[in-house]
Amino acid sequence: MTFSSFSLDPALLKAIAESAYNEPTEIQKQSIPLILANHDVMARAQTGTGKTAAFALPILQQLLSEKPISTNIRALVLTPTRELAQQVYKSFKHYGQFTCVNIGIAYGGVSTKKQILEIKTGLDILVATPGRLLDLIRSEHLSLEQINTVVFDEADRMLDMGFKEEIDQIRKYLPVEKQTLLFSATFADDIYKMSKSILVNPKVVEI
Ligand code: AMP
Repeated sequence: MTFSSFSLDPALLKAIAESAYNEPTEIQKQSIPLILANHDVMARAQTGTGKTAAFALPILQQLLSEKPISTNIRALVLTPTRELAQQVYKSFKHYGQFTCVNIGIAYGGVSTKKQILEIKTGLDILVATPGRLLDLIRSEHLSLEQINTVVFDEADRMLDMGFKEEIDQIRKYLPVEKQTLLFSATFADDIYKMSKSILVNPKVVEI
């Protein structure tokens, strides 16, 4: 199997070619077609398996396939830490380098000023940590009304770090009609519970 079998936009295939990946990893082979088909997905994958590209590539593809209908954010990736947010952001920037998709990042512990300015320029994708995202929503610098796809990356770590309350709050600002993707290293009981409340008829991928 090659990346071309997913019928991705040439701009994405070019970025993949620059990465010199020979073929999709297992998580990518299984998740990319499901995400492109607009399913909710619950995926179990550790860091190092290529899980970031497994959601970043189909999200970029979806954004390229549709006409921009607003300047609001259309895809949101939630991560438990600033470090992971930065890694995911870098991956999106890399895979999206030959597209005109705008990608932003927002995390706590630093001033909101730069992040607010970046949001104002019009972002398609935002990678964020839960607390800072809520601050930006509550201060009305950000709307989640146009979100098509939301990703909970390392959902187990998010729960371990006590972000359940923030996640519940964020969900209130998300539209009912959307695609939800949950990535987690483990499928412990609390992750099953969370998946039951946030995913609709999910396809399960375990590698
Ligand atoms: P992740 O699991 O998303 O943290 O990715 C781990 C590493 O695998 C990153 O350095 C990626 O650049 C790399 N990677 C992602 N997809 C592939 C692939 N299909 N072939 C080889 N390496 C990959």
